[in-house]
Amino acid sequence: MECHLLEKCGFFARYASSGLIDTEKLISCYCKGVNKNECRRLQYLYKFGVPPSDNMMPDGSMISIGVEH
Ligand code: SF4
Repeated sequence: MECHLLEKCGFFARYASSGLIDTEKLISCYCKGVNKNECRRLQYLYKFGVPPSDNMMPDGSMISIGVEH
């Protein structure tokens, strides 16, 4: 089952089909996989009540490839 935030997730929206990073493994592990409850983005949202930067990946590391808008 997919993550219930898939449609709203800033990371997913920005990077899933961007080709800028290799998202396949992350998405199959987290967003559409067994680790979705371990997603650091979800944990951040639950802890702070607001979503993290779109550049935070599900494993908690940050993307820094100069694509800030
Ligand atoms: S990155 Fe995390 S919050 Fe976003 S869709 Fe994937 S599992 Fe859900």
